[in-house]
Amino acid sequence: MVDCIVTVKGVPDFREGKVHFKEDNTLNRGETPTVLNPSDRIALMAALEIKVKHGGKVTVVSMGPLGYKTVLQEALEVYGDDAYLFSDRQMGGADTLATAYTLGMGMKKIGLPDIVISGFKTADGETGQTGPQTAWLLDYPIITHVISIEVDTGNRKVLARRLAGEDIEEIESPLPCYIITDPNFEASYRSATHRLRFLKLQEETRARAATIDSVFKAWNATELGLDPKKIGLKGSPTIVNKVEAIPTAPRERTAKVISGKDDQALAEVAKQIAQAIRG
Ligand SMILES: Cc1cc2nc3c(=O)[nH]c(=O)nc-3n(C[C@H](O)[C@H](O)[C@H](O)COP(=O)(O)OP(=O)(O)OC[C@H]3O[C@@H](n4cnc5c(N)ncnc54)[C@H](O)[C@@H]3O)c2cc1C
Repeated sequence: MVDCIVTVKGVPDFREGKVHFKEDNTLNRGETPTVLNPSDRIALMAALEIKVKHGGKVTVVSMGPLGYKTVLQEALEVYGDDAYLFSDRQMGGADTLATAYTLGMGMKKIGLPDIVISGFKTADGETGQTGPQTAWLLDYPIITHVISIEVDTGNRKVLARRLAGEDIEEIESPLPCYIITDPNFEASYRSATHRLRFLKLQEETRARAATIDSVFKAWNATELGLDPKKIGLKGSPTIVNKVEAIPTAPRERTAKVISGKDDQALAEVAKQIAQAIRG
């Protein structure tokens, strides 16, 4: 059995049509939905692979506002046996150090696992510091840029392949350890038993996501026993010097929406596609 904790964060949905900017080109958070950070989906897929091959428990954790419950729900759709949200007004404005402290303390309260897995970077903050800082606070050895993982449960060790520039390194680490998945991480299921277990676990986790309340807990700073000086803005040594507005790409094409029921318009589209192909 190998128990894993996966850290996940909610980020603005940057997909075209979902993201909204204010007139000064800063993000309009009120109008832009919050979704599961794309890199964290990969971290969850790594945990699912470990569960398929070795059993154990996958716990998903996040620090953020109470609304992040939907983010944890999205995470459970990929995989999770249970989900914890560390949420408190005092945690607001945390930099990566204060975030790592909160996550680490939360993991200690849950019970430290064999492997902690974090995503590569977030789509908004993008520092990539939170995972390594949490590993440091937990005193776990860390392997970053991981593209594949094998766990040797008998000898209590992990063999990971990681990207190092243009090279692939093979790293061995004792358990417990901390893994940061690379965006190129790929789970591999070669046996029929594993593939069938993967499908069964996927079905089970989707059912859990739909009824998240039975596996979801939210803990505030007091419940986590956090030092108020180490969390939120107070616990964040980072000073943001300047914030640049996000440049929006100039619109290069215009779109015309036609109804699928309008045969004449569809015939015109087909004619134009044929003309474009012929050149
Ligand atoms: C304008 C602005 C500027 C900022 N500048 C800085 C800065 O320069 N330095 C700094 O340290 N912080 C900064 N922050 C704060 C930073 O966004 C937060 O600390 C954030 O929670 C984590 O950093 P990140 O988004 O870079 O995550 P990353 O370190 O890129 O995240 C890596 C992985 O860590 C995990 N993770 C990250 N955050 C959470 C979370 N809340 N809950 C669960 N898992 C998580 C996820 O698995 C994620 O994939 C800034 C914030 C703002 C609004």
